[in-house]
Amino acid sequence: MNQRSYLDHNATAPLRLEVREAVIDALALSGNPSSVHTEGRAARAAIERARVQVAKLVGAKPENVIFTSGGTEANALALAARSGEAWHGYLSAIEHPSVLSGGRFSRETTTIIPVTPEGVVDLDVLRKTLEEHKPRGWRPFVSLMAANNETGAIQPVAEAAAIVHDAGGILHSDAVQAAGRIPLDMTALGADMVTLSAHKIGGPKGVGALVLAEGVSVEPLIKGGGQEGRRRAGTENLAGIVGFGVVAGLAAADLTKMDAIAQLRDALEEGVSALCADAVVLSAGVARLPNTSCTAVPGVKAETLVIGLDLAGVAVSAGSACSSGKVEASHVLAAMGVAPEIAQGAIRVSLGFGSENTDIQRYLSTFGALVKRLKQNAKEAA
Ligand code: PLP
Repeated sequence: MNQRSYLDHNATAPLRLEVREAVIDALALSGNPSSVHTEGRAARAAIERARVQVAKLVGAKPENVIFTSGGTEANALALAARSGEAWHGYLSAIEHPSVLSGGRFSRETTTIIPVTPEGVVDLDVLRKTLEEHKPRGWRPFVSLMAANNETGAIQPVAEAAAIVHDAGGILHSDAVQAAGRIPLDMTALGADMVTLSAHKIGGPKGVGALVLAEGVSVEPLIKGGGQEGRRRAGTENLAGIVGFGVVAGLAAADLTKMDAIAQLRDALEEGVSALCADAVVLSAGVARLPNTSCTAVPGVKAETLVIGLDLAGVAVSAGSACSSGKVEASHVLAAMGVAPEIAQGAIRVSLGFGSENTDIQRYLSTFGALVKRLKQNAKEAA
């Protein structure tokens, strides 16, 4: 049995062993991938191998993969291209902060598209808004994530893409959480651009990609050398990119294990409901990522639970994992209209390749004891 139960894969996943070995080997590659000599060509070949592996994960052409420093930069690159006056941004209310506050669109040139109480974008609102805005002559740029990082709710990207394309616009999808957890195919999604990040699926931190559909171009954010087809300057993060390629291959093969992960997730939610009749499972009524569960017990503060669980060897997040380590109100749960006393108690459990039944049992026994104690304390204080 593992000493600790790491159940926070949506924040980041532990580096997979095979990836670590490949990264260490790649660190020994001495050449600059842009150099024409033997050492340079060896480094270039490693990058191009990784490009093929990453492209395969989303059914894209390798030449349409632009490596970046992660999901955040890939989102910024996608948004940057459409920040001119002719464009208007339509962003779902539950996008990651790197899309919502990427600073690419001013308030006047952005419209937020709401979500349903289950956390799925409201396509009727999107359709109506695009129709209403038609006379203004804007080109729509829509950003709709493939699945949400807090609730796991899968978004109707293909349907949204059809609506956007009918309106003459383009659609970007942040698939950072969906990749490697559900099958993804650029053509089936209908997305013009897709964002990926290596570290959510056991790759290195600090590497990601923006993947383009055929014929779609971007304006570089970082200008300089001609790397990445003149779309992202700077000597490539060779070891990171190699690790991303390896993990993309592993993740594609591991999609078959996602049913087992979903069973663990379901067992966890059944256990939580058995321990607390008033527990709420967010987005329970819609299709979700197999690895993600967001539950709340009204009146029980998430921070208290997160600390108690951590002390007992279980790592989870309170609502959204904030980079600052602070627990802030979740904009996702607020957009879903979740009552503050429930949102304040929202715990996100996110499973991954190493998760086992013993992790779920450890979570449930600790959670049960903590909730019992906290409810007892609250009763005594009342
Ligand atoms: N998009 C989503 C949905 C995420 O969950 C994250 C990470 O939390 C990002 C983008 C940012 O990715 P990165 O950490 O690689 O910058």
